[in-house]
Amino acid sequence: MNAETRNQYPTIRPEQWQQLGYLDSDSLGPSTLSKDVHPLLSFSWRGREKWDCQHSGLTEERTHELLLPGLRLVSEFMLSPPGIAHFHAIFYGHRQELRDLTTQLGGKHKQYSFHPLEGLDPNTAREEVTTALMRLERVIEFEFADRSTDTIFRTGGARAMTRATRNIEEINILEDERCRGIASRITIDPRFVAALEEAHSRLDNTGYVLSVNFNFAKNTYHELQHVAALAVNSDVLSQLKQMQSMSLQQRLALGPLESPEPYLEGQQIAELGCSGEQLMFGGKIDWEFGNVDAPTWIYDWPSLLNVEEFQRGPGPEMTAKRYLVSMRYMRRVQQQAFVSPPF
Ligand SMILES: [Zn+2]
Repeated sequence: MNAETRNQYPTIRPEQWQQLGYLDSDSLGPSTLSKDVHPLLSFSWRGREKWDCQHSGLTEERTHELLLPGLRLVSEFMLSPPGIAHFHAIFYGHRQELRDLTTQLGGKHKQYSFHPLEGLDPNTAREEVTTALMRLERVIEFEFADRSTDTIFRTGGARAMTRATRNIEEINILEDERCRGIASRITIDPRFVAALEEAHSRLDNTGYVLSVNFNFAKNTYHELQHVAALAVNSDVLSQLKQMQSMSLQQRLALGPLESPEPYLEGQQIAELGCSGEQLMFGGKIDWEFGNVDAPTWIYDWPSLLNVEEFQRGPGPEMTAKRYLVSMRYMRRVQQQAFVSPPF
């Protein structure tokens, strides 16, 4: 980490940066993750190209090469115990209607039951999640944002985002009539690719690459929770169908449409990507974009720091403190022997 970046945080002393591994990060060693990328994230599926690299800023080949270690990390997150527990709640959790919370289109908000440590046989949960993810593989798409036209990405409001595919594709990955949903597409900020390319042109780059890999992986993992929810959330499907039958005037009168994403039991904010992060990392991860050298932060979820856009109803007071994520942690999760033995 250079002095210019450090100076932006005058209250953090050099010895604290040292302790957190940000000062000698190049001596840490690169990612050693070597397992195959999960098929859900692979670049093509049975001849169908899943990744549209048109706006990545680099060739498709180079984009794949740079993102590979990050995608291996997402794959490790997905099938780690907290990954399985969270996906299991989204795919198979019992859904209960919240009587006093109505969506804009008059439906009822739902809540998923969530007991990650109770009554779930780890092997059965793993098998069930694996099956659902394999089916999801047929419909997921990835692309990079065109930052000149995509307002949300131009203003830096998002690093990745999940939206329904353009021609709303109805899917039924659980083969359960109550869980019909839609296929979706993850849009990724091309600055992740640019940051990795920039880091590769530096002499001492290990720390930078580790931190970009980690933040790219956490963002992609976050979006996968939304993809999973949209795939089995019949409320979104019926909402979209309802909207298709409306006149333009009726639609405009509704204003910006809130997502009827379900609440996870016990949470006051419906944001499954964030609750997935909470379970995986013990908080929500935040990284200042545009500066590869920037430190990575973590704060409590759902007691918020300043992310008002996630407020979907009366929520908690924003009282969270943020903490620095140690560079050693980001390195450790990128060591194959640490996350899961390579056999
Ligand atoms: Zn989200």
